[in-house]
Order: sequence, then C-alpha cells, then structure tokens
Amino acid sequence: MIHRLLVRSRSFICPLLLFAVASAAKPARASQQPAPVPTRADILRGSYGPYRANNDLLFYHLDVRVDPEKKFVRGKNTIRFKMLKDGTRIQLDLYPNLNVDKILLGNTPLKYERDSGAVFVDFPSTLRVGRTYSIDFYYSGTPAHTGRFGGFTFGTDPSGHPWIYTSCEDDGASVWWPNKDQWRDEVQSMEISVAIPNGLVDVSNGKFMGKTDLGDGYTRWDWFVHYPINNYDVALNIGNYVHFSDSFRGLPLDYYVLPEDFEKAKKQFTQVKGMLAAFEHYFGDYPFKKDGYKLVEVPYAGMEHQSAVAYGNHFANGYLDRDWTGVGISTKFDFIIIHESAHEWFGNSISAADRSDMWIHEGWATYLECLYVEYRWGREDALKYANAYKLKVKNQRPIITERGINATPPEDQYFKGALFLNTLRSVVNNDAKWWKLIRGFYQHFKYQNIMTEDVVAYFNQHTGMNLTPIFNQYLRHTAIPTLELKFDDANGTISYCWQADEPDFAMPVRVGARDHWQIIHPTTQWQTMKTPLNKDDFAVATGLYYINVTKL
Ligand SMILES: [Zn+2]
Repeated sequence: MIHRLLVRSRSFICPLLLFAVASAAKPARASQQPAPVPTRADILRGSYGPYRANNDLLFYHLDVRVDPEKKFVRGKNTIRFKMLKDGTRIQLDLYPNLNVDKILLGNTPLKYERDSGAVFVDFPSTLRVGRTYSIDFYYSGTPAHTGRFGGFTFGTDPSGHPWIYTSCEDDGASVWWPNKDQWRDEVQSMEISVAIPNGLVDVSNGKFMGKTDLGDGYTRWDWFVHYPINNYDVALNIGNYVHFSDSFRGLPLDYYVLPEDFEKAKKQFTQVKGMLAAFEHYFGDYPFKKDGYKLVEVPYAGMEHQSAVAYGNHFANGYLDRDWTGVGISTKFDFIIIHESAHEWFGNSISAADRSDMWIHEGWATYLECLYVEYRWGREDALKYANAYKLKVKNQRPIITERGINATPPEDQYFKGALFLNTLRSVVNNDAKWWKLIRGFYQHFKYQNIMTEDVVAYFNQHTGMNLTPIFNQYLRHTAIPTLELKFDDANGTISYCWQADEPDFAMPVRVGARDHWQIIHPTTQWQTMKTPLNKDDFAVATGLYYINVTKL
C-alpha cells in the first residue's frame, strides 16, 4: 500500500535544543504515542481464534454480479477448506451492513451467528480433521465506500462511464465479500467471476480466462489466480478500459487505462520493464508468472493488488506530481509503478502472518525503491534517496504493533523499515554477502506468511551473527540507537558506547576519518581507544546507518 502523502517541512532546530540533545544521558525522543485501543470488531478480525485455527483455506470462487445503477452487489463465495481439528463451527467475516442471504453445505442450509464483522458458521455434524469441505456463502448489499483508499467505490470516470473499484487493505476484504478475513491463512488458488453490464471491462487478479455474454445485458468476466493470495489483494476494477499489452522475458504485461490516457500510459508504462529487470536481478523471478503482470488505472494513488497493480499516479514521475523524497531522485521514476510492484515480492509473495508485522511488506517495499535506484543510477543516488527518508520518520511508536488485534503499524514502518534494512547492510559489511542474503531470504520464504521472528532467525543463521538485538531495537522500540562519543583530546583517546533500549545492543559502526573509515564495535558498555583525531575531525558514517550520534 502507499502511505498518506506527508506534507512535512524541515523543522528548524535551535542551538539550545541541540545543546539539550547533546547533553542528555538518554537518546533524544520524540513524544511517544500510545497505540489506539482495539474495538471488538478489531479483536474478532485480528485474532486467530479456535474457529479459524481449526481449518486451513484451500480455494475461493468469488462469483458476483455488480449493478452500477443500483450500486448493488449480489453473489457468492465458494469456500473450500481442510479441517485441522474436528469441529462444528468456523469463523468467516462479512461487514454487518451486507446481508447474508444463505450459507449452504451442499444443499443443506447452515446456521450462523453474526457478531460485528464476524460470521460464525455452525455445522449440523462434526467436520472431521484432515477432510476437505466446501460451502457456498451467498450475500448481497451495497458495500461501503470507506477508509483511506475507498473500500468499495461506485464511481464514474470523467466521461461519465461507471468506474467501480476496490481497495481494502485497511478495512479488510470483508468490507465487500465474505471470506476468512485475516492474514495468516491464504487460499492456494482462486477463481474470480464478475458479471457487469455489457460494454464495461472488469480487471481482477490472475489470468484472464474469458468472458461470457449472459444474455441479459450482462457479461461475466472470469479470472483465475494460480497462487496464494491475500484477501485484501483481491480486486475488482470495472470501467471503460482500453487494453494494450507487451511482454518481458516471456511474462505477459497487460495494461488497462481510460481511453483518454492511452498515449500517456503507453509512454509511462515502459518503466515496467526496468522495474522487473531490477527486482528480478536482486530477488529472482517475478512471483506470479502464470497470472502475468498488469497495471490497472484507478482514481486513487495505487495499491499492490496481486498481479493487477492499481495505478493512479497521473502518468508522471515522482509521487502524485511531487519529488517524494525531496532530493531530486524520485523525479527520475514513477513512484507507484516501483513501490506497488515491489510488493509483488514483499507483501504478496512473502506476506506477514499478522498485520502487526506489516513492515515485512512496507519496510521491504520501501527498501526495494532504494535498490531500484541503486540498480538504475548507482549507490550514491540510492543512499541519497534512502537518507532523505530520515525526515519522514516520527519515532513515536515501535513499528511492530501488538499482534492479534488487527493493529495497523505506524507509518514509520515504511521509512524506518527501509532505513533499518539499509543499516543492516552496513552491519553485514560485505555487499556480495548482502546480495546473497536478501535473495536467499526471499527465495526461502516466497509464497509464505511469516513473522519477524522468521526474518530474524534467517538473518542470524545465514550471517552467523546475533542480529536479534539490532532487529529488536529498530522494530520493537520507539527510539533509534544513539552512539555516544566522549573525547579526551589531552590523552588522544575516545570513549564510545551505544545508548539503546536493548540491554545487549551491539552494532559495529564506521567512524574516524571520512576518507578512511575504521570499524569499531560499540556495545552498551563504555570502551576507550586511541585516536589521532580531535572532536571536530572525528566523524561517523551516518549516511550508512540510521543512528543518532552525540559528542560529549
Ligand atoms: Zn506499500
């Protein structure tokens, strides 16, 4: 997903404040903010309770009819799952404003109980462990236009044609269709059938399988997703689209835009090949080859809908006509094409198992922007781009939130997440090793739903280092580490230590002369060494790390 477009000016730092920071014993902190209190609906949606844990999703067939005039959706989701335990009840989800028409097991109507957004489905006899079952969940109603990205929107394009689209990562997919609305469990594949008035086009996820004239003024568009997919990635894009296509190393590229944007799109979307070349270089093949890669024009900025990326960046470089990081790099590329497509590797292929660990999507996707810059324009531009993100970090809450309550991490998950990964590369201090590490990490976990513990374990194992305190400090605490330096110019020595929340925090860092860095290994205990440099000349490679430095 993309973030709120921040309008933030450089804050003026007065000399007095600088003095206060320099003399403080603890790292300087922005005011900490408490996490929002979860609602009952958040707890029902965010927890992985017994009625979710007793089954494993295998397949959805979402089959809906969308009426633009009545602003109405009617249809069903066929849900196939395997029982992991004997049980008579499972939890599904559908927003309370939508009607449950009936739920069938074969021809048998099932009883159900609704509680906020949850729908608890009861079976007349025990479902047995190891067996596979399939139910048809019929529903109807007018899905809500809600949240930052719209939820489900019945809109019109500038020429007056219906333009209907979904974007529901924040709200949850159950804002418009019934499903097991959580992050841990994904179907292995999915069919999406969308009936719409003749003349309109539906673009959903996966491979286009064909369209059928239903004979009543509607045409059904069928799509098949050959891979696991997050619920929130499942999308409808219904509009007066024109289509053009291309290919990259055998991968079909399909583009859907409004007719008036056709020429602009043909030019702007040429950036897709460079994006694919860069990310395939670092991580390996595009993950959804059988489904192809698509860009679909929408009126909002963008969203990483799997294999059908939503695009609304005005066919211009930067982010919504701005230099996103303000240092003249982001104007060289289309931010939405790069950021949202990065999610195909991190977010869609590798997914977090709980929203609490969403930095696995956003921190990595933001870091992939930096890698894209490095691939195209070199390391210096990449560092300039990455470091500009420091101005956007707030450090008011940890970027990993409480799990099991559908808690959205703060926006720092993007920028601080990327800066953390950039820091980790400097800690590894061997680029050949770093490239192998991040590629190996991606390849090991692709198509899986993981938590931060899995990331940490992989990085520890494959570097032979104990990186756990570093991961914890950046992801589970509010403040970044501060390197404290005490100078004794008379004796030609310097003392150094980290101020950090993690008691065992230890991180090597490059210091000394700018043209000739040396690596020191500070811990949370003071150490002293000789230096020929005085306080003014002794530098720290802050461009390679996301840290504070105080000189005492
Ligand atoms: Zn994103």
